[in-house]
Amino acid sequence: MRLRHIPGAEEAVAESPYVIKEPQRFRGQFKNIFGNDNPIEIEIGMGKGKFVTQMAEKYPEINFIGAERYPSVLLYAIRKREQKELPNLFFLCLDAKKLADIFAPEEIAKIYLNFSDPWPKDRHAKRRLTSPDFIKVYDWILKKDGVIEFKTDNRELFDYSLNSIPQAGWKIDAFTKDLHHSDMAADNVMTEYEIKFSALGNPICKLIASR
Ligand code: SAH
Repeated sequence: MRLRHIPGAEEAVAESPYVIKEPQRFRGQFKNIFGNDNPIEIEIGMGKGKFVTQMAEKYPEINFIGAERYPSVLLYAIRKREQKELPNLFFLCLDAKKLADIFAPEEIAKIYLNFSDPWPKDRHAKRRLTSPDFIKVYDWILKKDGVIEFKTDNRELFDYSLNSIPQAGWKIDAFTKDLHHSDMAADNVMTEYEIKFSALGNPICKLIASR
């Protein structure tokens, strides 16, 4: 997401009670942040946080963490969170590369990747959040029966991911290249990008992967 830098965003993120500070200290103990043993699901690259906020409202028995690397973007999610009583939603301001240092093995039940940056050039393939290197990170933090759910309107990134995920030893359990007209659409919660791109007529792709 390309956004202008918002003055004061770093400070607002640093001060927000909804952003987990020095997350390494909770390694293996993230349940203490929520005060219960409910499963923890994370959205990586959540942007302004519409999806993860709505998911937290819809599924109060699941704990959600929204991870976003840019404070100027995360700020929008914090502002939404301030308007709602959602004890099952917290945020992390970090690069997804760091996730394996932050979470203990099997601490996470599900990972959502929504409209991840496509990085179209081959030489940038390693930066794609569905690259085999990133799948290794998810492999580390996800429970044995954990799943990855990925949505995008970018056909190149989607086709790449249909290959890269099995290359990393994972199975594609289900996929569609037109989510909104498929039977995978039940219970779909739209993201900000999903609303924007489907309004332009772009079909939305979705896959679900597990080991
Ligand atoms: N998920 C949202 C936003 C999609 S845009 C939606 O569907 O509407 C992709 C977002 O991922 C951007 O906000 C970008 O800053 C974030 N992002 C990209 N790579 C990341 C990384 N390595 N770690 C954390 N966030 C990342």
